[in-house]
Amino acid sequence: MNDSPARRIQDYQVFGEYGEVNPSISDGATFTFMSAEKMTQLFSEEVEGCFLYSRHLNPMDYVLSEALAKMEGTENGQVMGSGMGAITSVFTQICSCGDEIVSSRTIYGGTYAFLKNFFPKFGVNTNFVNITDLEAVENAITDKTKMIFCESISNPMLEIANLPELRKIADKHGLQLVVDNTFSPMMIPAHDLGAHIVVYSLTKFANGMNDAVAGAVLGSHDFIASLRSVNDGAAMLLGPVLDPIRASMIMKNLHTLHVRFKKHSENAMYIAENLEKLGIKVFYPGLPSHPDHELVKTLMNPRYGFGGMITLDLKEQDISIKAMEQMQIEKVGYFAVSLGFYKTLFSSPGSSTSSEIPEEEQAAMGMTPGLMRFSVGLDDDIEESFSRIKRSLKFAGVI
Ligand SMILES: *Cc1c(COP(=O)(O)O)cnc(C)c1O
Repeated sequence: MNDSPARRIQDYQVFGEYGEVNPSISDGATFTFMSAEKMTQLFSEEVEGCFLYSRHLNPMDYVLSEALAKMEGTENGQVMGSGMGAITSVFTQICSCGDEIVSSRTIYGGTYAFLKNFFPKFGVNTNFVNITDLEAVENAITDKTKMIFCESISNPMLEIANLPELRKIADKHGLQLVVDNTFSPMMIPAHDLGAHIVVYSLTKFANGMNDAVAGAVLGSHDFIASLRSVNDGAAMLLGPVLDPIRASMIMKNLHTLHVRFKKHSENAMYIAENLEKLGIKVFYPGLPSHPDHELVKTLMNPRYGFGGMITLDLKEQDISIKAMEQMQIEKVGYFAVSLGFYKTLFSSPGSSTSSEIPEEEQAAMGMTPGLMRFSVGLDDDIEESFSRIKRSLKFAGVI
C-alpha cells in the first residue's frame, strides 16, 4: 500500500517556527506587511506563505486545510469555524437568487433546516429527493439547478450515496456534486469517487474529542480561492473563521484519525452483529441485511471498516428513551447528540438531530419515533459494553 489518506497526512511534514515537531500556533489577528506594494498585491491575489488578516487565512488554519486536502485528495481546502459554517459557505458561494438545489432528504437536521427554511428567503429553493433513487434525482433537476447535495452516509438512516453515478448525473447537467463526508472520513474517498466539493464537520470523527466545533471545505484551487476572495467570498465575508488554537488541537488529533476510525468500525461491527442476533432491526452498512451493503463495499476503502454509526429501530420512543437512560446508568456511554467521540454516544434522532424535519417527511425517510442512533466509542472491552447494552434493552422491555 503506497498511498492512503492516512499516509498522505503522515507525509505532510510541517516544522514549527523553532523546529518544533508540531506546527506553531500563530498568535495574531493581523499580519505585518514589509512594503506597501506587498499589501496591495495581497489584497488582489493569494501569495504563498503570506497572510493579510486572520479571518482571511492564518498559518495554522492553512496547515490544517492542507492536511485535510491531502487526506481527501483535493487541490486545496479551507477550514471553518463549524460544519454548518462550511456547508452554508459552499451553498451561498455557488447559488444566487433564483437558483435551485437538488438535495438528499436524509441529511443532517441543521442542513435540512437551512435549505428548507432559511435559503428560500434569498430565493434559493431545494428539491428534496430519495438520493438512492437515481431516477428521482435526475427528474428533480431543472434548468435552474446548480448543485446536487448529499451525505456519503446519510443521517440517521445510514443510506449510502452512489457517488460515481451521482457524478455522472451532475456532469450531464453541468452541476456541482457537493458531498458531506462527516460520517466517513478516510472510509469513503468522496472526492475520488466523484464529488467536486467535499465538506466536513470536523467536530465529529475528524477531531474525535468532542472539545471543539469546526468544519472544512475541500475542493479545487479555484473554488477555495473564490471562497476566500476579499470581494465576494463567502468564507471571507460571512466570517466563519476557525480559531488557530482549535486548529492546532484538531491537527494533532487528525494524525490518529485512521487508528481511531478502524477501532470505531471494529466495535460498531461487533455491536451491530450482536444486536441483530437478538432480533432487533439494525441499520449498519457492514451488515449483509443493509440495503446498501453491496454498494458500500464497492465504494469504501476496506482498511477503515464500515464506520462507527449504527441506527436501531425500537419502534416506540418511550422504550428507546428508557433504554438510553439505562445505558447511561450502566456507563455504556452518554445520552447525547453528536458522534465520532471516544466514548459511545446515543440519542433519539426524531426528537433531536432530525427534529427540524417534519414528521410526515421523517416517515417518508423511513424514520420512526423509536429510532436510536449509536456512535460507537473506542471501548477496549466491547464484549462487556455489549452485555451492558443488552441488559439495558432487557430493562426497557425491548428483548
Ligand atoms: C454535525 C454535523 C454537521 C454540522 O456540523 P457542526 O460542526 O455541528 O456545525 C453537518 N453534517 C453532519 C453530517 C453532521 O453530523
